[in-house]
Amino acid sequence: MSLQSFFGPKSVAIVGASRQKGKVGYEILTNLVAGGYPGKIFPINPKADEIEGLKCYPDLASIGETPELVIIIVPAQLVAGVLEECAKVRVKSAIIITAGFKEVGPEGKKLEEEIVRIARRAGIRFIGPNCLGVIAPGHKLNASFGGDLPVPGSIGYISQSGALLAAILDLANANGIGFSSLVSIGNKADIDELDVINAFGEQPETKVIAGYLESITDGDVFVREAEEISNRKPILLMKSGSTAAGAKAASSHTGSLAGGEVAYESAFKRAGVIRCDSIKQQFDFAQAFASQPLPQGPTVAVITNAGGPGIMAADAIEEQGLTFAKLSEETRKKLAAKLPAAANVHNPVDVLGDALADRYEFALDIVLDDPNVQSVVVLLTPQAMTQAKETAEAVVKIVGQKKSGKPVLACFLGAAKVDEGVQILRRGGIPQYDSPESAVTTLKAMVDFVRWRTRPKRVVRLFPVNRRKVESIVERHLRRGLLDIGEAEAKEIIEAYGFATPKGSIATTAEQAGNIAQQLGFPVVLKIWSPDILHKSDVGGVKVGLRSEQEVRDAFDLMMYRIPKKRPDAHILGVLVQEMVRSGKEVIIGMHRDPHFGPLMMFGMGGIMVEVLKDVSFYLAPLTAEEAKQMLLNTKTYHILKGVRGQEGVDIEAIAEGLQRVAQLVTEFPEIKEMDINPFVVGAPGTTPIAVDARISLEKK
Ligand code: ADP
Ligand code: MG
Repeated sequence: MSLQSFFGPKSVAIVGASRQKGKVGYEILTNLVAGGYPGKIFPINPKADEIEGLKCYPDLASIGETPELVIIIVPAQLVAGVLEECAKVRVKSAIIITAGFKEVGPEGKKLEEEIVRIARRAGIRFIGPNCLGVIAPGHKLNASFGGDLPVPGSIGYISQSGALLAAILDLANANGIGFSSLVSIGNKADIDELDVINAFGEQPETKVIAGYLESITDGDVFVREAEEISNRKPILLMKSGSTAAGAKAASSHTGSLAGGEVAYESAFKRAGVIRCDSIKQQFDFAQAFASQPLPQGPTVAVITNAGGPGIMAADAIEEQGLTFAKLSEETRKKLAAKLPAAANVHNPVDVLGDALADRYEFALDIVLDDPNVQSVVVLLTPQAMTQAKETAEAVVKIVGQKKSGKPVLACFLGAAKVDEGVQILRRGGIPQYDSPESAVTTLKAMVDFVRWRTRPKRVVRLFPVNRRKVESIVERHLRRGLLDIGEAEAKEIIEAYGFATPKGSIATTAEQAGNIAQQLGFPVVLKIWSPDILHKSDVGGVKVGLRSEQEVRDAFDLMMYRIPKKRPDAHILGVLVQEMVRSGKEVIIGMHRDPHFGPLMMFGMGGIMVEVLKDVSFYLAPLTAEEAKQMLLNTKTYHILKGVRGQEGVDIEAIAEGLQRVAQLVTEFPEIKEMDINPFVVGAPGTTPIAVDARISLEKK
């Protein structure tokens, strides 16, 4: 869907146009006129003959032709009627500015459902309700009450908050930042974020897609389509508000650790969406993505007229994991030949405090030629002799002439003294930053984006498993309405997917426990066996390292005596006598099904400390081998697992494989709502890791 009727309509009707200054119906009309909209404007107001010199109509039907776009500003109760009118005159596109719908409660929600019904029936697509409107500078269309029309540019902006859009517009106008279009989607009752992002994806004038979202309607589809678009255009998003629904009433470790934000984070990562922390950062990024080529790699050269900022940039480069470019011999020779003897011809290139524009011009020209340099930051501080204006001109000139294919970012520090220069940079398409750090952070986002774009194709390995077995366990539980799968059957499920579990059986008497232990061989572990006890250690229901029949019998009696006192409600079936897994590190492999994005895998340091340490990482299933490995790398636990200070490491590949296997299980069984394998005990490379404890809960599909 192109949404072209929203961005470049041939005619616009404003239903609810007003003569009264300060009213939205007046502001929108005057904004449209002030922006120089070249198409026909039809104000609709039965009580007026003309507004601001424009002929007014009592209703849509009396216009005599069909407006391409209708802007609706009438009170909420009247919107449905206006849409019926739209249907009669065959209007296809509308913007509903009016508030008082879903956002105000059940009454409003009903109204909103009604307008959606009418629109669907009539084949009308609409933006809103409860929105600020649409702005398309290239078409001189300001169909909003958000502010003045910005200059045309290549950023397409989408906002779920109208107020924020107004702030962004103001900021952008103050800084001369241009847009291809801005859309306030409001309650997104019909056209949603994905429709707009897709439209931006197709729009030739939009090079960068940016936006602010509070929620994403359809997570799965979002990931798929955003990924496809990111291959062509960068998507920069600010996201706020978490989906508490996901974390509520979680019965697993994974569930309680996975807030809604984690799922968004993973979804954005997979789709190549660049997440921005603030409006400022979003502008920082957007300007560079819109005006500069993408860097070929991580090496950065810095040109400066002062030592301090040069060092700040160097620190930032290191901190962000970029590479401080090592200038070639040839570059250094060329620089030395022209710059004063005191200048530094190594990176950061210091052209000295008395540098005029010519030194910058010369240095930038040479540095851009260096094959070791993949991006350049030009720093300037306004010292006594500094020519901010001329230097800006020189930078614009060199970048334009050379077409080096390398991004050049400027950071002119200061205010009034650099202002003229900054304006020249902006007009010349050189992004300007107010600190070396923000310039470098921007480069880092660009380098990461290039890495994402050149990522290897995702190949998800499919393990041979016993799917039938799991199907029958899951079906049986759902048929009986049992949503928690007990430990025994949870283990059968993971065994069917290739996990090894400790041997053991259930005992109902101390005698029997002793016998089972004897058969297993010592040491053994005793665990309370009850469908009502989720965390066994919490009630003293796990006893490890029992070395004799006597110890086992004693431990049995003690559990049977103490636990019913602590948990009188729990139905205790007996005690599990289990072989003791010897050495190894305990990790957790978990999954929590996010309501928007589906199965979210978790990895972290396991055992009973997981919720205290919270050293965990998440990613959406299914997982490739690289993604599983990356999940490990994203935790501190990884360093412990690899072996610190001479300690032997554990089988990292085995953990990555375990993650992939669980990812396969939860992808193949959407009925699995949450699960943990905790602990998953891994030993030295080559040994078989053991899934000691497992918990699985289901939901009806
Ligand atoms: P829960 O999580 O319900 O408290 P677990 O079965 O995970 O119960 O046991 C708690 C802890 O006891 C584990 O994290 C692990 O450290 C230890 N443990 C349990 N079973 C074994 C076993 N078979 N071998 C070695 N250690 C075990
Ligand atoms: Mg456990």
